Amino acid sequence: MQVSIVTLFPEMFKALSESGISSRAIDKGLLTLSMVNPRDYAQDKHKSVDDRPYGGGPGMVMTVPPLASAIHAAKAGMDAGEKNTDAVKVIYMSPQGKRLDQQMVTELSQCQQLVVLCGRYEGIDERLIEAEVDEEISIGDYVISGGELAAMVLLDGVIRQLPDALGDADSAKQDSFASRPLLDCPHYSRPESIEGRDVPAVLMSGDHEAIRRWRLQQSLLRTKERRPDLFEQLELSREEQALLDELC
Ligand code: SAM
Repeated sequence: MQVSIVTLFPEMFKALSESGISSRAIDKGLLTLSMVNPRDYAQDKHKSVDDRPYGGGPGMVMTVPPLASAIHAAKAGMDAGEKNTDAVKVIYMSPQGKRLDQQMVTELSQCQQLVVLCGRYEGIDERLIEAEVDEEISIGDYVISGGELAAMVLLDGVIRQLPDALGDADSAKQDSFASRPLLDCPHYSRPESIEGRDVPAVLMSGDHEAIRRWRLQQSLLRTKERRPDLFEQLELSREEQALLDELC
């Protein structure tokens, strides 16, 4: 997968490229991460990328020309097979976009080429969004200062889904939301007992079927208690209903 980020703050992405699973995915060649800075495409001697909003009001707006040039450069920098730049999906991180969830992350992990546009200031001139952006994505109903952290959230989720990105391919399958609206079960490691809190005995029983059933029961219970909105969407199997009934 090729990802190009359009950002005024490329250095922020070291958090992805230099640590953890994302850095290992880059080292393994599962993805390339490149940066394009719109400031490099500014047309005046001050390297301006923003200007005052028409109609007045506070703050500044990112202007079209440097952003459009940066997006075109990002697309041109990708080996687009037969140079079909339409194959590249352009995403704008925006609080006004569709709210990110695991299904979107999984779908995006199947894209070959992504350009991710990070806004700053009051946002971006609407005409740039109309002309260049395929999808607006939000990381939640709150406003942060720039699209960079949002883009990193998105990309970290996407990278986890790339084949061979995780040391153990099964770990993503166990995660919350992996294939159904279900939360993960609780996890424990050594020591067996700490400050009067013991690891549930079943996890040390060596009985794999009992452990599977306990974990599934805990996932169901957690989802029901913590996320009734998700629980409502679950279609329970007969076994799952029986596991929940055991707790009543
Ligand atoms: N005035 C804009 C609004 O209210 O919709 C917010 C601008 S925000 C201060 C600057 C940039 O941060 C946005 O252009 C966007 O790229 C990014 N951003 C802020 N909140 C976000 C969110 N929840 N999800 C994704 N990106 C966000």
